[in-house]
Formats: sequence, C-alpha cells, structure tokens
Amino acid sequence: MHNLNRSQSFDRIDVDFFVRNWPDQPVKMTVSDITIGHLAEGVTHLHELGIQIQCNLAQGVDWSEPEHLGTLAAELDKLISFYTENPAVAPCDLLTMHLASVGGICREGRELSGIGEHESRKWCGIGTDLVAVDVDGREYPCHLFLPFAAGDRSETFRNADFADCRSLLDPRCRECILLPVCPTCYGMSLLRRGNAAERDEPLCTLTNLRALACSNMQARMLADRDRYPQFRDSSEEVILFTIMGIEAVQSGIRIPPASESMSRVCPVA
Ligand code: SF4
Repeated sequence: MHNLNRSQSFDRIDVDFFVRNWPDQPVKMTVSDITIGHLAEGVTHLHELGIQIQCNLAQGVDWSEPEHLGTLAAELDKLISFYTENPAVAPCDLLTMHLASVGGICREGRELSGIGEHESRKWCGIGTDLVAVDVDGREYPCHLFLPFAAGDRSETFRNADFADCRSLLDPRCRECILLPVCPTCYGMSLLRRGNAAERDEPLCTLTNLRALACSNMQARMLADRDRYPQFRDSSEEVILFTIMGIEAVQSGIRIPPASESMSRVCPVA
C-alpha cells in the first residue's frame, strides 16, 4: 500500500527506528480505491511490526465502482478472522464502530437519546476549533474552504453556524441509526459535491458494510467476552447497548449483494 502511494519507497523506511522512538505513535493509514485490495495484508503487517494503526477509508475519492463493495467485504472478512484469533491485538478503526451508541438510540428513542446532540455534532473542529487563514488575512473554517481549493464555493459557509451545525446535516442521514458513528468530511463534500452537508453516497454504502462487519466481529467477541480486552472491562450497560446496536445493525442495515465473501461478513454470529 505504501509503495502504491509513495513511489516504491517502503524499503527505504527504517521501521525499527520509529517503533523504538515512538512506540505509542499510531501510523495513519488512509485506504483508497487504489489500495483497498491490500487492506488486510497492510494492517496485519503493521500489527506484526508492533505498530498501532489509525485507519480510515479515504474521503474525496471515487468509491462508486460496485467491485469496491466486494473487495472491502473480503478484506474485512480476513481482518475479522485475524482479530478474533488474536485477542491481544487492538482492532484497527475500521472495525471499532461504537455500536453502543447505535444501541443507545434504539433503546431510548431518538428524542430521549439526545439525537439532537448527534445531529449537531461535528466530526472535526471545522469553524469552531479550527481556522485556516488565507494570504489576505481572511479566515476560513478549514483549508479545504480556502479559495485556492474551493474556488467560488469558498464563501458558501459565511452564514453557517458551526457551533450548532444542523445545517451541516445531510437530510438523508436524519433517520439513519449510524449517524452517531458515521464520519464525514465537510470540506471534501464542498469540493466534490458543492455542498458541505451532502455526504458521499457510495461511501455511505461502504459505511453500511463496515457496520455489518463490526456487528459481526463484536458479536463474536461478546460471545467469549473475557478473551477480548475491549469488552472484558466494559460496564454491563455498555455491553447491553452494544448488543442492542448489533441487533439494530443486523436487522436494519441492508447492502447490495456484491460478493461471495460478503455473505460471510453479514450474518449475526
Ligand atoms: S451511513 Fe449513510 S445515511 Fe447513515 S449517517 Fe452515514 S452517510 Fe448518512
């Protein structure tokens, strides 16, 4: 994956140097349409080197090819096997969706559970904790809103209230149980679709698949809870909400069939 992104330079990295000096520093892995077929190989290789991983699917690339769904399913399938067989290894972010948040919504109802809080929650510090200053001194909510990146669209945010960002919520997401666990990038939405609120539809499908994969892996782990550190010390309330989240995902999320492998990812364990 590194060689695909960075000109065949992996062999020139002194990996031991970084592991020795920054043992707690995770490696950032942004998985694109180019590298997704190597996801499991890349993640397990880093785990074998003793490196922690922050891993996410790239925003702003074209995920619309149907084959990406099958590829991601196959790769997540391999990772689920790896993590269930290696309980001491902390799973990468792609499989750690906080399904207790989903369960909390289902249990308490959208009004009572503070769905308003989720609707107004941002995925980054855009416009409140983050500022990008252009050469003329004008301030923008992040670097992707700067005129050299967004062109004429860079001023569309001027009336937005980033402290209560309901205006940044895609109406299609309002009823989605995955809203509390589904990341987005407002700047990339502005660049790709001309609207900071409008989410990436193909990426939405991949997020649904991730939710199913997470529900599968977490269900398997909960069935043997004491082996897995991420659940061994969790409170009974978190366990209950996680189970409810798993049930909600497995009964409520539907994805188009795309590969043989996906059928192994989806069923309740
Ligand atoms: S999974 Fe799709 S519909 Fe649900 S919150 Fe994410 S982008 Fe919106």
